[in-house]
Amino acid sequence: MHVATQIAKMKESATLAVGAKVTALKAKGVDVVGFAMGEPDFDTPRSIKQRAVDALMAGMTKYAPTPGDKASREAIAAKLRAENGIDCAAEHVTITVGAKHAIFMALQALIEPGRGDEFILPTPAWVSYRPLIELAGGVCVEVAGSVENAFRITPQQLEAAITPRTVGVLLNSPSNPCGVTYPATGLRSLIDVVANHPRISIVSDEIYEKLIFPEIEPGLTHWSPASDPRVAGRTVTVNGMSKAFAMTGWRLGYLCAPGDQGRFIREIIKLQGQMTNSVPSFFLPAVVEALSARVAPEVERMRAAFAARAGLLHRLLSHVPGLQVPRSTGAFYAFPSIAGWIGSVTPAGTRIDSAQSFADALLAEAHVAVVPGEDFGECARHHVRLSFACSEAQITEGVLRLDRFVRSLQGARATAHAG
Ligand code: PMP
Ligand code: GLU
Repeated sequence: MHVATQIAKMKESATLAVGAKVTALKAKGVDVVGFAMGEPDFDTPRSIKQRAVDALMAGMTKYAPTPGDKASREAIAAKLRAENGIDCAAEHVTITVGAKHAIFMALQALIEPGRGDEFILPTPAWVSYRPLIELAGGVCVEVAGSVENAFRITPQQLEAAITPRTVGVLLNSPSNPCGVTYPATGLRSLIDVVANHPRISIVSDEIYEKLIFPEIEPGLTHWSPASDPRVAGRTVTVNGMSKAFAMTGWRLGYLCAPGDQGRFIREIIKLQGQMTNSVPSFFLPAVVEALSARVAPEVERMRAAFAARAGLLHRLLSHVPGLQVPRSTGAFYAFPSIAGWIGSVTPAGTRIDSAQSFADALLAEAHVAVVPGEDFGECARHHVRLSFACSEAQITEGVLRLDRFVRSLQGARATAHAG
């Protein structure tokens, strides 16, 4: 059977691929420490689950309006106005099958295939952005953050990447895979650049907005580009319930686009109506509950736990020889460089010549799962991603195994005494 080239040439998601390997190994009884999946280990707060159960039992089992019902869209718009300073109303919001679906639709609507449209992507960046930009017919233009600048790009870099073909820029703070948060001033200075280019739209993926650690970098707060009137009309804000509310399996995300007198969001909802229609209708009251003040203390409890784990993981990793790792200030990821171990050989005889071979050998020989950096961008080729959405005991055990693993490597630039 023929498979269209655009699908056949698409890479599979590296995060999901490692996640599947871990599940398969665990099913065989192998004791794996999983630093792979970006998925909170907490359960969804009870009152959110209860609202969905109640709605289901009350018979909320029919099609809902494509973008969600009035109450859930209003709850999201109220949140975006109050917490993010975005001037929007319920009709500017659509509830999607995870943030992934929202990003997919935004890119489909912004990129004109066959025209050489360029979309700027600050890297390292989450593995799904490039394939989704390319699937929409765009050219992904990477702008590399450096380890020295905590993986943040500068306004000068952004300006230099803009060409007459640039149609958009995709921002993600706090970031997957770096765990790095732009301070509000840093993000504003990028928006200053975009403000001078009226053709350029912004997709701002804010799915980790509630997971920021001022304990680690004092004064850090979240700032939404769509709150800036200069770009508000051409910014698509993406968010979702997966990370902050521990609801990955529910597949609930949303998108807000107040610009163009509502024309853009109407086009998005048209697309959604042809592809998925609404999310399951009895989940909609659960969205309202998640955004209520009742759940906020639970979100804060989980955020504080992630902040503590970020500190613990950084302390432990800083003793592992040959790794270079900036501090995580948000999300639940650390992204160390393993460049010092390229060229080494494992006790089982595997040559480490890439992040992929490092991650494969670490999993096979030390039973620790990490995501290799290659698919997070060209500049990420010698990094691996560790998700600390797991217990402190797992973090301690996993880094112990990682430490033993790198100390067993032979013949690299890094030495077991470095670091
Ligand atoms: N954006 C980023 C940066 C992510 O890490 C993820 C993780 N899945 C998503 C979007 C998609 O989240 P979901 O589809 O579960 O809402
Ligand atoms: N975003 C999470 C991760 O990066 C979940 C998996 C995925 O959708 O990529 O691990």
